[in-house]
Amino acid sequence: MTTSSSTTSSIAWYSPPRVTTEPVGFAARLTETIELLNEAATYTPCVFAHSLSAEDMVLFHLIATHRIDVQSIALDTGKLPTATLELWRRVETIYSRRIERRTPSGPRLAALSDVDADSQIYESKHIRALCCQIRKTEPLRLALAGKRAWVTGLRRAQSAGRETIEKNSFDVTFQLQKFSPIYLWSDEDIWYFIEKYEIPHSTLYAKGFASIGCDPCTRPIRVNEHPRAGRWWWEQTDPNTIKSECGIHVANANAQAGSLDLNDRTSL
Ligand code: SF4
Repeated sequence: MTTSSSTTSSIAWYSPPRVTTEPVGFAARLTETIELLNEAATYTPCVFAHSLSAEDMVLFHLIATHRIDVQSIALDTGKLPTATLELWRRVETIYSRRIERRTPSGPRLAALSDVDADSQIYESKHIRALCCQIRKTEPLRLALAGKRAWVTGLRRAQSAGRETIEKNSFDVTFQLQKFSPIYLWSDEDIWYFIEKYEIPHSTLYAKGFASIGCDPCTRPIRVNEHPRAGRWWWEQTDPNTIKSECGIHVANANAQAGSLDLNDRTSL
């Protein structure tokens, strides 16, 4: 990862909280999470969109250990950090469960190379949104086609844009039921559970990364920075209200999907 070398400097970088005491109210939140996963599984067929994040490792662990009948998929955007790809292989072995790979394809993917999207994503919000649409939103849309529900690792505490997330609601973007079983979990809940059950997670968390996505669009954060300040940081205007999303979890993604055009750089 191009940015990780900077973690060796004297700057105080983020590290996950070490939580060895059960957070107040955690047992009730865990019980509700398992109930929601089981409820999601009744919407056959249901898929879990696994991002290999710490949150999604918690859900994957619960799905596997409680033998919940939900298929796991992950989007291989072609831009994932090596550490994420290594974790992917490792957890499939540890849990003896497959995480189905979904990849972008088609002429629009080739067109991203034509416009040199790798470098232009930093200068053009339009190209960045296109890249997210072609590498993430469209493959996810195909993966969700024909499904009745999907499960995500979204949490209200993650950002201002996510503080109204529902535990179970109809997803107007993808037209199916959407479950967010850990919607109420805190950072402490996540890391307490990971520590307690020794759940595998990305090595990047120990290098200052609090939220991990594609390699070009993820950087480590300093102590006291917003947890999602390392995602699309060049687009952030207010460090206290980080709202940038790839389009998968925002209501207008459906509209964007039909309107973004490689030749139009002015609409965003
Ligand atoms: S996160 Fe970055 S590299 Fe990944 S799809 Fe979006 S713009 Fe492209």
